[in-house]
Order: sequence, then structure tokens, then C-alpha cells
Amino acid sequence: MSIAIIGAGYVGIVTGTCFAETGNQVFCMDVDEDKIQLLNKGRVPIFEPGLTEMISRNLKDGRLSFTTNLEKVVKNARIIFVAVGTPSCADGFPDISSVIRVCEAVTSSMNEYKILVLKSTVPVGTSEIIEGKLNRQTDVPFDLVSNPEFLKEGAALEDFMKPDRVVIGSHSLAAAEEVGGLYAPFVMRGAPVLVMDPRSAEMIKYASNAMLACRISFINEIANLCEHVGADIQWVRKGLGTDRRIGSDFLYPGIGYGGSCFPKDVRGLVQLGRKVGYTPHLISKVDEINQAQSKRFVEKILKFFSSGIAQDLERALKQGKKIPEHFSEVCDLWQLEPVKEIELALQNKNVAVWGLAFKPRTDDMREAPSTRIIPNLIELGAKVTVYDPEALDEARKVFGNTVEYASGSYEALQGADVLILLTEWNLFRHPELDKMREVMRLPVIFDGRNQYVRTDLIEKGLVYFGIGQ
Ligand code: NAD
Repeated sequence: MSIAIIGAGYVGIVTGTCFAETGNQVFCMDVDEDKIQLLNKGRVPIFEPGLTEMISRNLKDGRLSFTTNLEKVVKNARIIFVAVGTPSCADGFPDISSVIRVCEAVTSSMNEYKILVLKSTVPVGTSEIIEGKLNRQTDVPFDLVSNPEFLKEGAALEDFMKPDRVVIGSHSLAAAEEVGGLYAPFVMRGAPVLVMDPRSAEMIKYASNAMLACRISFINEIANLCEHVGADIQWVRKGLGTDRRIGSDFLYPGIGYGGSCFPKDVRGLVQLGRKVGYTPHLISKVDEINQAQSKRFVEKILKFFSSGIAQDLERALKQGKKIPEHFSEVCDLWQLEPVKEIELALQNKNVAVWGLAFKPRTDDMREAPSTRIIPNLIELGAKVTVYDPEALDEARKVFGNTVEYASGSYEALQGADVLILLTEWNLFRHPELDKMREVMRLPVIFDGRNQYVRTDLIEKGLVYFGIGQ
């Protein structure tokens, strides 16, 4: 089958490469000339495990090519996937102008029957609106199919090639079957291909992301309550997750979710509801709780440095005393009265940050918690040094010269008053605790992802605060 992909971003590149891998002829098109040049040399502008190797193989075998020429790819392909971005507008509603522009341009270049597939996440009703527009624009026959994507960055190839389900929405059963056929090699183990109306297909994408975001905000609220009542979220999470009705996925407390999908899609769904006269109250709160979770993390750090504990710790270290376990009691921390002005508590403090990407195994920093937390710390007068194994180039675009960039995890810790862990890369899982204590000025860790065993760190003479513990 001859396939075109319009938009060579995270979704477009992965979709095109996986379809090429199963023997299709794939033409990927993007307006970004630099990106296309890189891709044609086999260099991949994003970090996604396994992707570079798969692209090189398919480029070499001639099944995959990259171009900026839209007309050519439309003429060559029977099925055309649209995978351009749909960022939030100022009011939170998705901006679908790129999707519409691409569909109109594709239609102008069509010479015979084509199937147009919307892979981009678009508000419910978009496929039908676009179908109507294009029908007025051309006499060339076409069918429109909604085929939302569920891949996770960091495991995108695996997700695409072993999907839980494939969702296809179309008023044309023949077109839906043809698109479904492309997925046949990926669903041989029995994953269902669900064919339905386009509106339901579009809604499944938003509902899935809202549900997952909801679970994260839910467990964050429970973790926050644990901090105040002295319960341990690590036990609570296990007790909850082993209930088969609940399950354990997406029940990990932290500093809030980020990325290019959850924040935008949750906001998009709320705005969609408002547009049609219905306020989804529960979903509206999910984003609010998420934003608050990042702020709360900074508040906790402020609490520590404005309380007497920070000074007691310095004193204990100078006197070579063992650091008392109660220094790590978060329950106490929330109740402590500040001994100095809370807004000044982080002035000139050296803050080391491990992890910047919105999650491990990606360099994507779109709406990453680090982009909320780090500017907040800088505003409070902290000197921030960051390290991430893959996202430093992206980070430079976001933070410019407002932070120092370290060349390794321990370099970031030199002279630090505190380490904050924001992304749970494997690399950070088993650090050398003795070395950390040696190079840091104060051995204090705020673990935004609950990666470390609290008792191990305390035993090694570190002060430790996780989330909800
Ligand atoms: P992206 O920003 O990484 O890529 C979009 C690409 O489209 C860019 O390379 C851009 O240059 C290109 N583009 C923009 N306008 C164009 C035009 N007129 N013609 C050709 N190319 C054009 O976006 P993404 O993360 O791949 O997301 C694409 C869509 O898929 C979004 O709607 C998103 O919500 C959805 N989605 C994303 C993910 C994810 O994990 N990233 C997962 C599922 C669904």
C-alpha cells in the first residue's frame, strides 16, 4: 500500500516508520525543511528508543522517504494520514487550523480517489466539519476517516506495533476496512479494531487522556492528604492498586503530569463541553489540581528552607553529628512556623535538578513539570543547575541562560543545597549516596517521583522528602 504522512513530528514519524516496517511504501511530508533534510540522512530530530535504527533500515530499503513536496506525496499515495499538531488556543480549545489547512491543500492536489485519515487529536465533530468543507471544494471522490493515536512517547514503537486497540471512525465502511487492513500485522495477537462513527472515535481519544489525567490528579490529592495525616502513599497506592476493579496503572503520585497531550486534551475537553452548553465539573478540576501539585512541591521546599530545620541541619553537619531522622518528617514540615521570611528562603540557594523531560525516555519538554517548577524557583532567587540525559538541547530553548547546564548528574550536585528529582530516568535510580553526600553542601533531596526508598536515604545520612510519605 502507498501511504502519505503529513506532519513528521512524534506521531507522524512513528506512524510512517512502523507502516514502512510492515512493507508499505511510505512518503512523509513536513513543511520544516531542516527536519526533512536531517531525516533523509537518517538522523532523527527527536529522541525515541529504537526509532533511529528502524528509520535507517527502511530508508536503506527504499520503503520510506521524507520530503517537503505535498503535491508529490498526495499523487503517489492512496491513504493520506494527517498528523500535524493541534496545540491549545488561548482559551484552551484545540487549534485545528493546521489540520484544516493540510486537508484543503491535500484536496487541491488530489487527482483520483483518496482516503484521508485524521491522526491528529481533534475536537469531536471535526471530521464531519472537514468532510463537509472538502466536499464543497472538490469533485474528486474521497473518504474521511478518524483514527486517533494512543502511543506514549518513550515507548512509541512498542505502543504502535502492539496496540491495545485500534479505533477507526468513518461513515464509509469500505474506507474504514482499508485503513484497518494497514493495522492487520499489529493486531495479530487479538487486539480489537473498533470501527464506529467519527464522533465516537474522536471522543475516545479525549476520554482516554482525561481518564488517565484524572487518575494522576486523584492519587496526587490522596498523597497530599497522606502528608497531613501521617499515612504513607506507598502503602496506600499498593492497597488501592491491587483491587482488581481499580488496577495500579497511572496511580503514581508526583509533581503533576505534563507533555503535549494530557494538559492540552483535558483543557480541550472542558472547552468542548462549555461550547455545547455542558460544564464537565470533574474534568475541569483535573488540570487545576495538576497545576497546584507543581506549586505545592516548591512550597514544600520553601517550608524546609524557611524553617529551623535547615539551620539545625547546617549546625549538625558542622559539628559532625548524625542527622536526626525527624528532619525528614513531612508531616511536621507542613506544621512548622517559618523562622525567616518564606519568600526569601531560597535566595541564593543552589538547587540541583535531575531530569527535565516530561517523562523518561523522551526529550520532549512540552508542558513538562520542570517548565513550571524551575521558573518558580528562579523567581524565588534560587541558583539552578540542571541535568537531563536527553533533554538538555530542548531545555536550552526553554530556559536559555537562566540556569546552569551540568554535563552529568554528579556535576549538577557540586555545592548544592538541595537536589530535586523531576524526571525518573533509570540513570537516577541507584545513585551513589555517599558520593552525593560528599559533593552536596547540604544533603537534602526532594524526590518529585518517589524514586528512592526513604529509609535507605535517611540511613545514609541524607534528608529526604518524597511525595505523600
Ligand atoms: P509535533 O509538533 O511533534 O509534530 C507536528 C509536525 O507537523 C511538525 O513537524 C510540524 O512541522 C508539522 N506541520 C505543521 N504544519 C504543517 C503543514 N501545514 N504541513 C506539513 N507539516 C506540518 O506533534 P505530535 O506530538 O506528533 O502530535 C501530532 C498530533 O498527534 C497532535 O494532534 C497530538 O495531540 C496528537 N498525538 C500526539 C501524541 C504524542 O505523544 N506526541 C500521542 C497521540 C496523539
